[in-house]
Amino acid sequence: MDVSTASQSGAPAPGQLTFVAPRRAKPARHLADLTMAERRAAVAELGEKPFRADQLSRHYFEKLNGDPRLMTDLPAAAREKFATALFPTLLTSVREMTTDAGTTRKTLWRLFDGALVESVLMRYTDRTTMCVSSQAGCGMNCPFCATGQAGLTRNMTTAEIVEQVVAGARALAANQVPGGPGRVSNVVFMGMGEPLANYKAVVGAVRRMVEPAPEGLGISARGITVSTVGLVPAIGKLADEGLPVTLALSLHAPDDELRDTLVPINTRWKVAEVLDAAWDYAARTKRRVSIEYALIKDINDQEWRADLLGKLIKNKLVHVNLIPLNPTPGSKWTASRPEDERAFVRRLEFHGVPVTVRDTRGREIDGACGQLAAAE
Ligand code: SAH
Repeated sequence: MDVSTASQSGAPAPGQLTFVAPRRAKPARHLADLTMAERRAAVAELGEKPFRADQLSRHYFEKLNGDPRLMTDLPAAAREKFATALFPTLLTSVREMTTDAGTTRKTLWRLFDGALVESVLMRYTDRTTMCVSSQAGCGMNCPFCATGQAGLTRNMTTAEIVEQVVAGARALAANQVPGGPGRVSNVVFMGMGEPLANYKAVVGAVRRMVEPAPEGLGISARGITVSTVGLVPAIGKLADEGLPVTLALSLHAPDDELRDTLVPINTRWKVAEVLDAAWDYAARTKRRVSIEYALIKDINDQEWRADLLGKLIKNKLVHVNLIPLNPTPGSKWTASRPEDERAFVRRLEFHGVPVTVRDTRGREIDGACGQLAAAE
């Protein structure tokens, strides 16, 4: 399959891997798209004093206020100007679903151009994680993933990604999530999209998340996980950024024959290459790489595959996250039998590989696997 010639314009053919997002209108620029220096320049362009950029940043990143009309410490005339120039409405909530007594909350968002994306807030006793989307749709075409079935609509901007986290932070700060007022401690790029196929916007969003308030949200880079199908050159680039985020690699099979079908980008970068990129990432960032492996009954859950996986990754800075498959509507595939899951875990443990089975939070509300947007 040729992945390099995905067309720049028009919709990609269904079933084709698409790296280059279709050319579409982008939303208007937002404060969260900009670095501090760019914010000062933008404010100056509007004929206002550069320190207003610091005020706007405090409002947005610290107080989580995205509406200048409510920023009463700004001159009234400037409020309207800032609202138009720097705070366009990027996300509109279409639907909210909650489960786990309100501690799991999934939101379906409509973007300015009608594209739909999802984010999920998951509150645990010791942390709160926001699962965010990085693209409307996805071009990677993994057959078990609901998002993959619809293809790629467009890349999201930095601010559209950041706004998902700010929306979660706002709900927590306003005591709308059971457990008392709280904050977002973790962010995982495990919503819709392939983050490393939207590299620049995603790295920009990570920077906004980790920059200390009021420049950014002040979330620890260690609490941020970028999950990828394994775009090898982009993994190398990410290691160069000096952002010690956790890399999650969606492996799903230890052998090329099966991975070619489950994660089609494997036809371009093989298991051995993508694992090398992961070890290189771990060596340079000192961060343990997470291997994601969705257990699919009788497809990739055989003991010999666990054994092969164990041999490939033992003695590395690694952790395996087994995910019981969340079947997509109409899928012929389903989650593994409990005894096969247990055997898989045991086999990995035999090789000394740390492994956990992910809890299936939010399954009743269609998990975080693009199923809500697909249903809409
Ligand atoms: N494109 C990125 C991030 C989005 S998906 C990636 O592939 O890593 C986040 C994780 O959910 C990935 O590991 C993905 O393979 C997994 N996933 C997708 N659909 C799933 C499903 N139906 N059941 C279980 N896991 C799924």
